[in-house]
Amino acid sequence: METYQAFIGGRWVEPAGGQSFESFNPYTAKPWALIPRCGAADVARAVEAAKTAFERGEWPAMTPTRRGAVLRRLGDLILQHAERLATVETRDGGRLIAESRGQINYMPQWYHYYAGLADKMEGSVPAIDRPDMLAFTRHEPLGVIAAFTAWNAPIMMMTWKMAPALAAGNTIVIKPSEFASASTLEFMHLVEEAGVPPGVINVVTGFGEEVGEALVSHPDVAKVTFTGGEPTARKIAAAAARNLIPTVFELGGKSANIVFADADLDNAVKGVVAGIFAAGGQTCVAGSRALVARSIHDAFLDRLVAYAADVRLGDPMAAGTQMGPLGTLPQRAKVLDYIAVAQEEGAELALGGKAPDPARVGDGWFVEPTIFRGVHNRMRIAQEEVFGPILSVIPFDDEEEEALAIANDIPYGLAGGVWSANPGRALRAAQRLKAGTVWINTYRAISYLVPFGGMKRSGFGRENGQQAIAEFLQTKAYWMSYADHQPEPFVMR
Ligand code: NAD
Repeated sequence: METYQAFIGGRWVEPAGGQSFESFNPYTAKPWALIPRCGAADVARAVEAAKTAFERGEWPAMTPTRRGAVLRRLGDLILQHAERLATVETRDGGRLIAESRGQINYMPQWYHYYAGLADKMEGSVPAIDRPDMLAFTRHEPLGVIAAFTAWNAPIMMMTWKMAPALAAGNTIVIKPSEFASASTLEFMHLVEEAGVPPGVINVVTGFGEEVGEALVSHPDVAKVTFTGGEPTARKIAAAAARNLIPTVFELGGKSANIVFADADLDNAVKGVVAGIFAAGGQTCVAGSRALVARSIHDAFLDRLVAYAADVRLGDPMAAGTQMGPLGTLPQRAKVLDYIAVAQEEGAELALGGKAPDPARVGDGWFVEPTIFRGVHNRMRIAQEEVFGPILSVIPFDDEEEEALAIANDIPYGLAGGVWSANPGRALRAAQRLKAGTVWINTYRAISYLVPFGGMKRSGFGRENGQQAIAEFLQTKAYWMSYADHQPEPFVMR
């Protein structure tokens, strides 16, 4: 068993209550680490440390250029420690080691990109309509940022928040998911090594009701950035409203992959598989509905089922594995429940539909790649986020109109895919898809350069790209008079 401590004010500390809880390896279904069970007292310490670091000390005194240099160093260190971080991420969350490695080796780009932006967030000098006056604006940091992450890709989600927030000059308190906290804590060794001043980055671990609520309710938190599910987002929004602080929300989805009759079917099959079976469907952008033109429906489904039937389940640390276990035990129960719901609703099982035999895959929290055909978009299986390897295939008559109506008839708007050989049709459909990200003849491409976020109930605010740093800045206006005499004081200047 590995034992972790919380990271507060630049020091490794025991939680005030002295308790810890077990973190499980989803592949072995056994605990492997002890994580500190923090509470309100630890949150108070962490926010105090972050507030002090924001207001006094090295961080506020640093020029944006020097702040950028610290972030660049942090990015460089990731490459040196990538294997350790990837191993911990996979052990704690069940994500394929190839995917953990890929994500972590790509993470330095975020630190380098926002390091570069740190000293380029220029204000303006409006051409004002008053004599002998100068006005200018600057973009200034907000203060202490509270960052919440989900269990499915902790280091990546932390990075999407932390790199722009710090580049903007804020300090941060991170609360990772209780199901996958270890990699975030491991990352703090790099934070120390990079020379990030004490208190600039803090991590409190534990349960949502104990530590999460205390953090979001703390009066010294200036903004909340959250990745997670809708029920938690509603609680966080209520707490943020009580303190009148802004939020960024990255929530769930029920994304559609629309396959038109003129699509390259082999490519579309791969795209649909990437959308729903990569990471076992535990991605916010999971393409959990495949909308398929009726004229190609049966041919497409045959190829899809044949492809998905060969997906290799197994040890996420093994090189040949294509799908690992689900990340948490409650998540597996939820996914199996949805399989039962879909069948009760009359959806027809085309593949999978159960947990695989442990004799084949071991004791891990697996569910087979599962495909339902004959799904109607009003069924729960087509409306609700499952967050697992369950695909609903929905036919449409060969018209854009019907495909778009079905695709948009959900409460979510995170992502979507369009497959067509006709660029005009693809682009028209993409424009009409109500989603923050649309992929055309590809799926699940993500970059630090491209804004990411949701429409509708998938959230608001954007991560990645230049907009992400703007989320952590506020514009301040300065006025200065260089007139020799002040005008008469009883009218507005
Ligand atoms: P969750 O909402 O259960 O938890 C998210 C975080 O909130 C965790 O750190 C959790 O401990 C904390 N939390 C829980 N209750 C809290 C409370 N009352 N107050 C404060 N904090 C609290 O989500 P999850 O199950 O970890 O993650 C799955 C969800 O995340 C899915 O809906 C998925 O789509 C979404 N997600 C979205 C994105 C995105 O970028 N849009 C990315 C990944 C995951």
